[in-house]
Amino acid sequence: MAKVVLVLYPDPVTGYPPEYARDSIPVLQGYPGGQSLPSPSSIDFTPGELVGCVSGALGLRKFLEEGGHQLVVTSDKDGPDSEFERELPDADIVISQPFWPAYLTAERIAKAPKLKLAITAGIGSDHVDLDAAISRGITVAEETYSNSISVAEHAVMQILALVRNFVPSHQWAAEGGWNIADCVAHAYDVEGLDVGVMAAGRIGQAVLRRMAPFDVNLHYTDTRRLPAELEQELNVTFHPDVASLVRAVDVVSIHAPLHPQTYHLFDEKLLATMRRGSYIVNTARAEICVRDAIVAALESGQLAGYAGDVWYPQPPPADHPWRTMPHNAMTPHISGSTLSAQARYAAGTREILEDWFAGRPIREEYLIVDGGKLAGTGAASYTAGGGSSPGSGS
Ligand code: NAD
Repeated sequence: MAKVVLVLYPDPVTGYPPEYARDSIPVLQGYPGGQSLPSPSSIDFTPGELVGCVSGALGLRKFLEEGGHQLVVTSDKDGPDSEFERELPDADIVISQPFWPAYLTAERIAKAPKLKLAITAGIGSDHVDLDAAISRGITVAEETYSNSISVAEHAVMQILALVRNFVPSHQWAAEGGWNIADCVAHAYDVEGLDVGVMAAGRIGQAVLRRMAPFDVNLHYTDTRRLPAELEQELNVTFHPDVASLVRAVDVVSIHAPLHPQTYHLFDEKLLATMRRGSYIVNTARAEICVRDAIVAALESGQLAGYAGDVWYPQPPPADHPWRTMPHNAMTPHISGSTLSAQARYAAGTREILEDWFAGRPIREEYLIVDGGKLAGTGAASYTAGGGSSPGSGS
């Protein structure tokens, strides 16, 4: 029997369960490209329920407790006195979401001799030191595709919000004003702009497809070039590296994983090569950008706007400069945790656990690290051996 430590974000301040705005969520048939939806034997929650917070327990409580496993659910995850660190020494399985990551540093992994499986409920396992997981033989898995479209929708929304100056205009209205000139002095149409994605994986491609109807010129870079037929279908121009991409566009949406190749890629030097008044949307990982270089570029006008939902650390301190920098349309890390997305990654987490307990292989596309090496999606999208320790950044 296993001890499972589940680290989840706190319940709503207004109480749990919340009053739901809608009675159901759509039933999807599959993911784009044909990957099938999560397929656990059953689930113990109604899709559309808030399961990502402590009281929701990802809908896993009944399944784990009836299976005789010990379940600990906590949101107290940071610092040596946190409940997470206290529970780690005899934990077999750790589960957390990128929105409220349980940072599994090399030091913490060393304190968890029994740990065999780290599940990311969602996508993006950079909060786990993958090198340490590899050398310890820990399996790292996530629910590939579960919230890719959720994130793509958020990125498109934030591109529109920045270019059209939505947030300040909404504030004028909410505060009783009618200051048209103040609103439109920083507002443009998206039509005709050059829009690029940095990485055209599942999310990047979905953003390209969703931006096409706005009659923009599409661009991308990726370490793995898309097949020629797909480039043609998407009507997108390939750039061999991020340096040539950013020179050619007005808007960059970042969709690469955080790993040694992408850490602090958007620094002062790269930002200076962009067109004056460019926009960046980053729903990938905060540390792909240098925090203070982004602030300086917004203050100087080199960037006309920055938006996204990813921060470092998470949660960020109250005085994190991205909360108040000019022309930002930041949200907390929410894009991949809509009620729609939660239903998919909670079911995917259950599927991974069912396979693990039954000794069946975990789906290849869910794997990041397995058998002492990068595996599955991890082998395609991450690099190992580069000191990718979470918490190494600014
Ligand atoms: P994916 O694996 O489908 O695509 C990642 C792409 O990045 C791949 O095409 C890969 O070739 C490319 N890539 C890797 N390194 C690169 C580099 N150095 N330069 C250019 N391209 C590079 O993953 P996805 O589902 O599209 O997710 C992408 C990332 O988005 C995740 O790793 C995660 O960090 C982030 N994400 C954020 C949220 C959120 O809630 N904000 C949710 C899901 C995923």
